[in-house]
Amino acid sequence: MAFAYYKRLTRRQQGIYRRSNETPAVPLPNWRSLRPITRRLGEVLPDGDRGRVQEICTELLDRMADGLKIRRARILVLARRPSDETEELHGCYTPAPEGGHAVIKVWMRTARRNQVVAFKSFLRTVLHEFCHHLDYVLLGLGDSFHTEGFYRRESSLFHQLVPATRV
Ligand SMILES: [Zn+2]
Repeated sequence: MAFAYYKRLTRRQQGIYRRSNETPAVPLPNWRSLRPITRRLGEVLPDGDRGRVQEICTELLDRMADGLKIRRARILVLARRPSDETEELHGCYTPAPEGGHAVIKVWMRTARRNQVVAFKSFLRTVLHEFCHHLDYVLLGLGDSFHTEGFYRRESSLFHQLVPATRV
């Protein structure tokens, strides 16, 4: 953890940050039935059909949320990543407003060359944004930080969804 960063957080945020580190994994009760969906995503993604990719991502995230018995998040799959000179945006998460839906946005094409993103990194992005959702609705953290625990949870989802031989 970057200690200087941590020290700049408010006391409440520091509490959330520490709690975020306490959960290293999120076991998916229905991981077996999710693997075929993930496999399909890997097959369809290279074709670059945004509508199909969004359909499969929606199915995947809905089934993960249902398995965990939490509120679903909407996912929007968009085409080319927004960027400036130094960075490109892979995805983003907006927590649910009062009475509304949480929204995940992910981009499936690179900023520079407009190429479809590789399966593994695309899935990582989807799961990364879903982990922000989990921080709010599963862990009840009230804020979502990129802690070591956060990245462990992201990895734990990835390894449940993708058999080791495909990594
Ligand atoms: Zn993030």
